[in-house]
Amino acid sequence: MKITMLGTGRAVVTECYNTCFVLRERDAPLSSEKYFLIDGGSGGTILTQLKRVSINWKDIKDIFVTHRHMDHILGIIWMLRMICQAMKQKEYEGSVRIYGHDEVIHILKKTADMLLTKKETCFIGKNVKLIEVKDGEEKEIIDHKVCFFDIHSSKAKQFGFRIMLDDSNWLTCCGDEPCNETVEKYAANSKWLLHEAFCLDGDAERFRPYEKHHSTVKDACEKAEEVSVRNLLLYHTEDTDILRRKERYKEEGKKYFSGRLFIPDDLETIDLSDHDILFTERENTMNDQQRLEAFEKMLDNVRKEYDSIQRQMDDLKEKGKTKSATYRQLMGRKMTYQSLISMYEVYGLL
Ligand SMILES: [Zn+2]
Repeated sequence: MKITMLGTGRAVVTECYNTCFVLRERDAPLSSEKYFLIDGGSGGTILTQLKRVSINWKDIKDIFVTHRHMDHILGIIWMLRMICQAMKQKEYEGSVRIYGHDEVIHILKKTADMLLTKKETCFIGKNVKLIEVKDGEEKEIIDHKVCFFDIHSSKAKQFGFRIMLDDSNWLTCCGDEPCNETVEKYAANSKWLLHEAFCLDGDAERFRPYEKHHSTVKDACEKAEEVSVRNLLLYHTEDTDILRRKERYKEEGKKYFSGRLFIPDDLETIDLSDHDILFTERENTMNDQQRLEAFEKMLDNVRKEYDSIQRQMDDLKEKGKTKSATYRQLMGRKMTYQSLISMYEVYGLL
């Protein structure tokens, strides 16, 4: 699974978009992606952001709205409008499911009634499914188990969620408020934690994060360290020094958090799968025997891949398709594997 940040800023930003993101999953390398959109930012720019990352909004079938604040819900009104219109034109396939707690669902229904036309709202309740979720309720979304929970905000009722990445790893999103005791049980031991960070600890006097129930980078990092999070992603920040935000926030954060720290820019995509972590762990702990085994496995796979490419090329040749794009692609790959095999030969390993 991957995450694409559509926006990373707090409510009143001008250099980036307000916090919203998409989780994306593919069943197989060549199959089409499934999307789970979380919040919509403050308006129609959601459509621009999606376009910039080459996601067709018509392919989004699952949406979750955390709370009623304008910097989260207004973009969803735009999505709702676009989707209803596309349904009217028969240009939207299947149905869309929008999840939220009672207040969010109520606001979406009311706003749609007031701002959209009857020809648009007639899809609500049919192919536009507004689904109310309760604290602790589980749903299956983009083929993953998702559990929604109340973060017990004192400002506006807000839900976060936990999504299982596989049997034993999960990502937790605690919304746009500090992870409190009620949320800790979900956040603890998360492979990924998405946490707000309003500003640097050093800038707290200037931005007053506590007045708005927000955290500094230091607070978020200390909390993530305390509850044994492995990867921490910080968002919902001020944007006064956007070009150096990543560097400055990392600098402060790494003093308090020992896992991997991410301060993404808008439109950045991060792979949530295990590769890099496993790689570094393995590198540190592998003994000679394990290295040899890994090497043999790799060699075996290189040869298998080479043979398979050769077979596919022979096949195409037989069908007279040596001028096809596929044939040329295979030829390129064959050369890559051929040079790998020659390297093994050079070092006397074959
Ligand atoms: Zn917010």
